[in-house]
Amino acid sequence: MSQQLSTEAGQNPDRPVTLAGKTALVTGASRGIGRGIALRLAAEGALVAVHYGYDGPAAQDTVDAIVANGGRAFAVGAELDTVDGVEQLADAVRSGLRAHTGEEFLDILVNNAAATGHLPYADTTPDLFDRLFAVNVRAPFFLAQRLLPALRDGGRIINIGSAVTRIALGDELAYTMTKGAMETYTRTLANEVGARRITVNLVAPGPTETDRTRAFLRSSPEMEAMMIKAQALPWIGQPADIADPVAFLASDDGRWITGHVLDASGGTYLGPKL
Ligand code: NAP
Repeated sequence: MSQQLSTEAGQNPDRPVTLAGKTALVTGASRGIGRGIALRLAAEGALVAVHYGYDGPAAQDTVDAIVANGGRAFAVGAELDTVDGVEQLADAVRSGLRAHTGEEFLDILVNNAAATGHLPYADTTPDLFDRLFAVNVRAPFFLAQRLLPALRDGGRIINIGSAVTRIALGDELAYTMTKGAMETYTRTLANEVGARRITVNLVAPGPTETDRTRAFLRSSPEMEAMMIKAQALPWIGQPADIADPVAFLASDDGRWITGHVLDASGGTYLGPKL
């Protein structure tokens, strides 16, 4: 288990919050890492738009957990496979913000939603390749483009990438290419929007325990031991281990960091241990 904040929301009632009065959109916050990020940003005082693709009840569960914790959130659904879906999301976020705050301003955009597809190179179809690039690259590209007018000066764009960009994983090649594209996007967009004091960074998780990955990561004690042996740090990554650096980058403490790829993988595949 994580030795960090083990509660989902990760807040300490005695610590001052860092995002009071801010608004945030977290894509893919119905579950997994996105849910962890939404809970953490809300615990820091942000009003969070909890985006989901297909699982509305799961997104409502994230909203309910935030509200039960004293935070503020609302759910917004949109399929990110199409540009129409991206535009619907941008519109729904703006109207949700207007309903909750009387304004349409966003402070923090977290591009977390992603599709995964594990197939050997020889079996990867053009359809799977196109779908991965549509959800993982085109959607964050156009979502930020559509929301930039609503993003306040001094705002944050935080992309969730993956440590797989520095590892050769043959059966995830198309997926890893989408994450490589997001690193390029992060650096260049940071340069484009910096004059408005908007920062753009990417947080790259390694294997992280979520409902999607648990069956694999915890399939046997041997598998757990193998995953941990491949890392410098000795536990299986948890959503809170990713949400914490995201909250740091979102806070004022992260104001001078932009165009950066932040590896949050517990030191996955750094090299052989002596
Ligand atoms: P996950 O549990 O599979 O959740 C994916 C989220 O994205 C869900 O909220 C899902 O919404 C949404 N989503 C997926 N496809 C969508 C689509 N076509 N349209 C709209 N929404 C869609 O993912 P995760 O494991 O938490 O991963 C989160 C991020 O971390 C991703 O960017 C992933 O690449 C990255 N990452 C994860 C790991 C890991 O080990 N977990 C490692 C490295 C990087 P619905 O459920 O509502 O459909």
